[in-house]
Amino acid sequence: MLADLERLVELQRLDSEIAEVEAAAAAIPGVIRRIEEQLRKAKAALDAVTAETDRMMKLRRQQERELEEVTDQLKKRQSRLFEIKTNQEYSAVLKEIEGLKHKVSVLEEAILVLLDQIEVELKARAEEEQRVRSSEAEALRDTQRKEAELRQLRGRLSELQGARKSQSKNVESSLLQQYLRLLKSRAGLAVAPARDGSCEGCHVALTPQLYNEVRRNEEILTCERCGRILYGKG
Ligand SMILES: [Zn+2]
Repeated sequence: MLADLERLVELQRLDSEIAEVEAAAAAIPGVIRRIEEQLRKAKAALDAVTAETDRMMKLRRQQERELEEVTDQLKKRQSRLFEIKTNQEYSAVLKEIEGLKHKVSVLEEAILVLLDQIEVELKARAEEEQRVRSSEAEALRDTQRKEAELRQLRGRLSELQGARKSQSKNVESSLLQQYLRLLKSRAGLAVAPARDGSCEGCHVALTPQLYNEVRRNEEILTCERCGRILYGKG
């Protein structure tokens, strides 16, 4: 193969790999953000269920205090019954006692229902806690893996850029300018192989004469349609 052409093919190989590595590195911060976002959501779900159990337990304490008070009042009324002198007062206190007994049973029922709800909610909280713990471990592992991957890609990138720099010094100046213009205007592909009679850059059939010349790899030839520098392969 013509030396200039060979250098351009190698330069293109380096530029293509640089583009791939850059794209892979650019995608990593987004992946890390998504991992962190998922963890944040898991924590928010735990916070919500924790707030709910706290609210229920506070309500339970309130209801228990209320029950104590009502039970106290009931006992006082019941002990008063023995000191009462008139029938009228007696039936009034009896009526109060009935009312208080009803309150006690309503409160006891409410506390039982609430205890059931608390049990369900505590179970959900334990599950959310478990989920957050495993999400945290997983997020840490995944983030560290992605960060290691990013460091590796950056290392590879600087190697490739070094190789690219010395490779481009080997290419004759006007040819390098042509290459760089094409690289910019042809989506990162300036040098394309020709295969089965076609330019692999734009997939258009070359004239048989051009194709034959390209296959010999003895001169710098370009595709008539996309202008890419061609070389014969296969
Ligand atoms: Zn072409």
